[in-house]
Amino acid sequence: MAVNLTAYRQVLSETDHHHARLVAVSKIKPVSDIMALYEAGQRIFGENYVQELVDKASQLPQDIQWHFIGHLQSNKVKYIAPFVSMIHGVDSAKLLREIDKQAAKQGRVIDCLLQVHIATEETKFGLNGQELYQLLDETGDLQHVRVAGLMGMASNTDDEAQIRREFAELKELHAAVKEKYFAGRDDFKELSTGMSGDYKIALEEGSTLVRIGSLLFGARNYV
Ligand SMILES: *Cc1c(COP(=O)(O)O)cnc(C)c1O
Repeated sequence: MAVNLTAYRQVLSETDHHHARLVAVSKIKPVSDIMALYEAGQRIFGENYVQELVDKASQLPQDIQWHFIGHLQSNKVKYIAPFVSMIHGVDSAKLLREIDKQAAKQGRVIDCLLQVHIATEETKFGLNGQELYQLLDETGDLQHVRVAGLMGMASNTDDEAQIRREFAELKELHAAVKEKYFAGRDDFKELSTGMSGDYKIALEEGSTLVRIGSLLFGARNYV
């Protein structure tokens, strides 16, 4: 399956228009596909699995910014801490503390996004509003993580109004948290929302980072 450069250019014109950035989600896809998009100018790639990310990063150009977008287990943070550029799915104080510890060992500060559960589907991932505030209250002392914003996934539905409501809700929460914890600071600017099916709505609702996979790389065939 070839990379869809027409779709890539279309998405880029839309993200540029909204002053947002594109995370090209390359999970399951071969390094040759990543190189094809790299040669078209893309530098931010998103991966979901630690071992796959470590393998790919070792084979690909150093100036790629790797975003980890999957569910990260605390005991695996050490493998990506030396090079990862942003971690999108942080949903516990324990995980944030482990990232801080491993980043300190590397002499780095790692950008993290806190994942908020906005969809109606039941999932064990993501914080509710109350848990988000609690996490921020507990972890303000950390020196080697930069809380760069929030991440969320809308419900898997055709109901565009619902998707828009969920993204808008997250945008409001983002503004409230920024005001309470980051007022006057340059941190906490990112809102990571939007995938292949709903990124246009996400951009209209304030997304700064869209995470797009299948639209660029074709459908994923899990084996
Ligand atoms: C796989 C994945 C994406 C990309 O999904 P597409 O529908 O292929 O664009 C985005 N975000 C997360 C968290 C993912 O796991």
